Amino acid sequence: MDFASRLIAWQRTHGRHDLPWQGADAYQVWLSEIMLQQTQVSTVIPYFQRFVASFPAIAALAAATEEQVLAHWSGLGYYARGRNLHAAARIIAGKHHGKFPREFEQILELPGIGRSTAAAICALAWHERRAILDGNVKRVLARYCGIAGSPSEKVVEAQLWQQAEALLPQRDIAAYIQAQMDLGATLCMRSKPKCGECPVSSDCIAFQSGRVSELPTPRPRKTVPERHTTFLLLMHGNDILLEKRPGSGIWGGMWCPPQFDDEAAAKDWFMRNGMVASDGDRLETFSHTFTHFKLHISPLKIQLTSKPLSAAQPGSMWLDVGEALRAAIPTPVRSMLNELRRG
Ligand code: SF4
Repeated sequence: MDFASRLIAWQRTHGRHDLPWQGADAYQVWLSEIMLQQTQVSTVIPYFQRFVASFPAIAALAAATEEQVLAHWSGLGYYARGRNLHAAARIIAGKHHGKFPREFEQILELPGIGRSTAAAICALAWHERRAILDGNVKRVLARYCGIAGSPSEKVVEAQLWQQAEALLPQRDIAAYIQAQMDLGATLCMRSKPKCGECPVSSDCIAFQSGRVSELPTPRPRKTVPERHTTFLLLMHGNDILLEKRPGSGIWGGMWCPPQFDDEAAAKDWFMRNGMVASDGDRLETFSHTFTHFKLHISPLKIQLTSKPLSAAQPGSMWLDVGEALRAAIPTPVRSMLNELRRG
């Protein structure tokens, strides 16, 4: 049996068959594919279910505000995914009359959708014969085909696409795509793959040549730049001041406490706005890692005796901490708010 036939047969008995987006329409397949980027299935499932309950169709998603969409994305990270999803829904509502486009090229034009995601949608929703190459598949193919070099390099990626195309079966394409995803997630994991249970171990080059731990070749290590920032947690009673961030950049469109380069800048802003307060309280510094840098966050909590008008500009709002936790906030802000609730 060839690679695809063995994977499909294995998927039938050992694969995942009860994921909430399996057998769904193109909209839900698209949503799941976007949520699954950089995120594990177990994390995605409750987010997916809440999202679909609030936005059951593309029209509902297009009609929502960006803020509503980001509030549903809050905690899932990589928020550009949520913004792109919303922008794409609006394009579909306008240009495609609310119907998910049927052509691969049209899908590829939508924001946030690359070649592999567009192919996965076509294959899973319409059983079109298309190869995918997400992170899991790159790992499986680098090992199975014995392809050295980091998949982040263009030439290596091109080799992997070539293999992905060459191994495509003529039929059962949706089962095959799901099988690749399941194999990557449940057997051919990054560390400690279960080669003993793998249906393709007999001709897997990495396994047969004892190179499983070397492949795929890791991305050349770069030192991750470190940055520091101070968040000013201005409290009045149980209310906290939040500001809406600009639409693009880190946490674009989400709500955060006022942010400064350091404590001196935070205090300077505080004084300039004529605020009166009890002493500031430094909460524990913590770190948040982004793809390209590590951010060390120092929260400074200040309890105000009155709400200053100067701090309530358009684009800012006071919210009870409990309500703020339900708003479109990024994960580190959620951690700070939970800390405030506990303290
Ligand atoms: S034999 Fe091991 S390394 Fe090769 S594809 Fe299977 S799980 Fe991955």
